Amino acid sequence: MKINIDGYAAEITDSLGKAGYEAYVVGGCVRDSVMGRTPEDWDVTTSAKPEEVIAVFGEKNTVATGLRHGTVTVIKGGKPYEVTTFRRDGEYSDFRHPEKVEFVSDLAEDLKRRDFTVNALAYSEKTGLIDLYGGLADIESKTLRAVGDPEERFNEDALRILRAARFSSVLGFGIESGTSAAMSKLCDNLKKVSAERVFTEICKLVRGKNATAALMDCHDAIFAVIPELAPCYKFEQKSKWHRYDVYEHIARAVGCAEGGLEVKLAMLLHDVGKPECFFVKDGEGHFYGHGEKSYEKARKILRRLKASNALFYETTLLVRLHDRPIKNDERKIKRLLSEIGDETFLRLVAVKRADGLAQGTEIALEEVKGLKDIEKTYRLIKERGDCYTLSSLAVNGSDLAALGYRGEAIGKELSRLLSLVIDGAVENDRERLIKISSKRI
Ligand code: ATP
Ligand code: MG
Repeated sequence: MKINIDGYAAEITDSLGKAGYEAYVVGGCVRDSVMGRTPEDWDVTTSAKPEEVIAVFGEKNTVATGLRHGTVTVIKGGKPYEVTTFRRDGEYSDFRHPEKVEFVSDLAEDLKRRDFTVNALAYSEKTGLIDLYGGLADIESKTLRAVGDPEERFNEDALRILRAARFSSVLGFGIESGTSAAMSKLCDNLKKVSAERVFTEICKLVRGKNATAALMDCHDAIFAVIPELAPCYKFEQKSKWHRYDVYEHIARAVGCAEGGLEVKLAMLLHDVGKPECFFVKDGEGHFYGHGEKSYEKARKILRRLKASNALFYETTLLVRLHDRPIKNDERKIKRLLSEIGDETFLRLVAVKRADGLAQGTEIALEEVKGLKDIEKTYRLIKERGDCYTLSSLAVNGSDLAALGYRGEAIGKELSRLLSLVIDGAVENDRERLIKISSKRI
């Protein structure tokens, strides 16, 4: 099998080869190339020791990134390439970091420490594909399988449990039954993995094309890191709006959401407060106040997972608003736009669409259709260039200051004028607005 290697990665393996070392591209980039996906980055594994790698490329073209782990970053064409010496991981004592790594002389040892068979492929122009663990067959049958004994591998490094869920989502692979059983059995060890690493995997997982299946299949691993979701599992909604239990609805909503990470994470957390709000009236299940309850929980979860502030605020706002009806009414839409801004408004529409689609009932689909009209109204507002923000109001703070307004009164009056303009009570015309405000001073 021939793979198109990235030009600079090929130069790196060539140079190492000419200097008498073995060198291969390895791991995710080989997997992605075989699958016809574009690799994000190209990693190289080599028999050269770190100082030998530095000697081959020169100090000014290399960064000693993780010498202890055998990694040297080689800069080519302004891009970083990680070049790592063949290694074997030593004992693991904290479920995450090997106590020490040992450099070894052959590729087979290096491939053995890699997490999944599809990630344990190496390639060089000279040797072609090196597949010691059946990775190619697993790519063909879309199977994620641990290299060696899955329990042993997950005991060494619990993060691999979540990586499995993530790869299953991103690659659209099923998880081999032994690997999957070991994930469920050992997922509690994930509690010892750092929040940052957990969150990185969750973010990749929710954006994967197969997120729904991964969330369903790997629910144990998900609940180990977000225990607040566990009560949603198989929680029957007893509602004419919903075809699925709360967790399946969530998993489906993540899968069908169109939008960035904020929208995906909002879907993951939008109903996390539902079980606590549940009550039945006349045989019908209700969840009053679950938007607010989910918001509280989402705040705790995203803080714990160390989400960035921007992601935290946007995601939790979407969770809080997800259940608030949007009427197809120009004034109401402009008010909402002035409150949350265009970007959040469009994300909220995406959230509502995903929520409705994942409810899986006819009446919910009707509501989803209504979102098209809301988007139409939004486009109309934009085309006309209607004013709904303070910055597009025809007067500003200095205008009001010139009229004699001071301090807080300026902001208050500007808001009042904006309200009048949004409501259509007055045109967004400078002279008109100044006249109105001058009467009040
Ligand atoms: P991505 O598309 O996210 O870059 P990747 O497979 O390249 O996926 P990386 O985290 O970049 O994943 O790691 C590169 C390679 O290193 C993997 O393909 C795998 O061979 C190995 N690897 C990474 N993390 C682990 C781990 N926790 N345990 C074992 N092997 C790992
Ligand atoms: Mg990679």
